[in-house]
Amino acid sequence: MTAQIIDGKALAKSLRVKFRERVEALRTAGVQPGLAVILVGDNPASKVYVGNKVKACADCGVASFHHSLAADAAEAEVLALIRRLNADAAVHGILVQLPLPPHIDVRRVIEAIDVNKDVDGFHLYNVGGLVVGNSIFPPCTPYGVELLLETTGIDVAGKNAVVVGASNIVGKPMALMLLQKEATVTVCHAKTRDLAQHTIIADILIVAAGKPGLIVPQMVRHGAIVIDVGINRLPDNSIVGDVDFEGVKMKASWIAPVPGGVGRMTVTMLIENTLRSAELRLGKGHGIGHEGWDAAVIP
Ligand code: NAD
Repeated sequence: MTAQIIDGKALAKSLRVKFRERVEALRTAGVQPGLAVILVGDNPASKVYVGNKVKACADCGVASFHHSLAADAAEAEVLALIRRLNADAAVHGILVQLPLPPHIDVRRVIEAIDVNKDVDGFHLYNVGGLVVGNSIFPPCTPYGVELLLETTGIDVAGKNAVVVGASNIVGKPMALMLLQKEATVTVCHAKTRDLAQHTIIADILIVAAGKPGLIVPQMVRHGAIVIDVGINRLPDNSIVGDVDFEGVKMKASWIAPVPGGVGRMTVTMLIENTLRSAELRLGKGHGIGHEGWDAAVIP
């Protein structure tokens, strides 16, 4: 068996076509959707990520407002900027690029963002919403994985889903989203004993550990759906995921490669959440159909 490829690039492209139509509809209603991006310091990887987000905004017709602060900017300065952006009607989404310099309390900064503009989905309100099944903005990476899974046409309900990695931005929200869709969910992490014993039962295997070559074919069930979230740069500068793609694709039924799988979707879902925010403000709760999207805007 050779797995079918889950094509994140193609899905992202088709979503962006629909985004442009939604931007037009918003403009017709007098709203120009806008995303504010805050970068503190000059971490080169963060600069690249911010650049990609600004580019994706331009691609879809979303305005972007880029705020760069010095690496030694005081926490109070970041908080004051967030308060200004919270009050700015031209801004529908606020994103603080992580990691922040160590002298800044990340939680305090994230909690300062108006939950109605928390398009990264990291505010406690949105995280709690995942637990009870009605977050306004699902976090972008697991949200992208959810849509990639949908392209396989396979119903998640009742499946064994195994998530490798338990970070706040990928693994934990991913597990909650799969649970919401009635999968039987196992979460593995660096302290998990005998990882293979868990991964081998997975009908759906999501890997987000940041360890190249972590998942080899012997750890994967025949016919499993495998989504590799990992992004690792090798010494030769190539980018690989956490899954031995060539080996595992001979056992899986579907596989999302790196690159070409989740990566492009993450930024795309950021735009989705920004448009969703603008639409909610207009009182039109549309979007592409996350279960939690009936949630009311918080006054
Ligand atoms: P993280 O370092 O915050 O968390 C990694 C998680 O993996 C932890 O829970 C850790 O316990 C677990 N882990 C580490 N080694 C393990 C092992 N040997 N066995 C089992 N679990 C192990 O990382 P993160 O921010 O969640 O990112 C994970 C990976 O996903 C990274 O490669 C990152 O670059 C990538 N990522 C990709 C996207 C995307 O858009 N495609 C977005 C975010 C993160």
